[in-house]
Amino acid sequence: MEKVGVVFGGSRGIGKAVAQLMAQKGYRLAIAGRDLEVAKAAARDLGGNHLALRCDVANEQDIQNAFEEMEKKLGRVNFLVNAAGINRDALLLRTKTEDMVSQLHTNLLGSMLTCKAALKNMIQQQGGSIVNIGSVVGLKGNPGQCAYSASKGGLVGFSRSLAKEVARKKIRVNVIAPGLIHTDMTKGMKEEQLKKNIPLGRFGEPSDVAHAVVFLLESPYITGHVLIVDGGLQLVL
Ligand code: NDP
Repeated sequence: MEKVGVVFGGSRGIGKAVAQLMAQKGYRLAIAGRDLEVAKAAARDLGGNHLALRCDVANEQDIQNAFEEMEKKLGRVNFLVNAAGINRDALLLRTKTEDMVSQLHTNLLGSMLTCKAALKNMIQQQGGSIVNIGSVVGLKGNPGQCAYSASKGGLVGFSRSLAKEVARKKIRVNVIAPGLIHTDMTKGMKEEQLKKNIPLGRFGEPSDVAHAVVFLLESPYITGHVLIVDGGLQLVL
């Protein structure tokens, strides 16, 4: 089967590292983000002939347009990575409703909608593989991240249910739960203090996560799994 992949949120951070590794492994790729110019730059960095797309995953029409464009220009997608995500950290009493909604829309609903759109392609091709990027806080909880944790915990329930729904169609669905990773999302965090709590003693790099994502994408007998990539952080949370 030809490997045609899409990475939503592939323009920066973890998603970009995933796209880089997938490109090295011979995937034909689409990289999607809200800012087309940033996505184009990321696609250029991959070398080769990869596609850049503007797509807000919180917008169902954008997702439909993205899949139509991918089908025309790349062929049917059989590998999907959902790395688009935002955080609006605050204690629950200080979290605005609009910030709860935006995190749930982008982090949870967005992945549900891209999975739904990709399934049609995967069923036609009699197989496919999906990796959704959750978070260790979706499993363990974290003060100041109630809405974010809810979105990421929800992603686990969603992914495991979908894994059961589509296993007979030879489609696998897995989750990666990263800990603290060096990206724009963690810029400004108190790294020196936080890394003391991480058993491996450092923040992760996007490439650390990318290897785990590609492992799950390509592991033919793993589905419904949540793989934690956090330097041991979950051991102490
Ligand atoms: P970054 O902020 O570095 O990158 C986020 C990516 O998502 C960008 O490509 C951004 O592009 C895209 N994005 C954001 N919102 C949307 C949207 N509505 N539609 C489409 N694309 C969107 O974050 P990370 O790389 O750190 O995060 C990647 C994933 O990993 C996220 O799901 C995050 O929650 C998760 N994660 C990150 C951790 C960390 O420590 N960094 C820890 C645990 C989980 P653009 O802005 O152009 O849309």
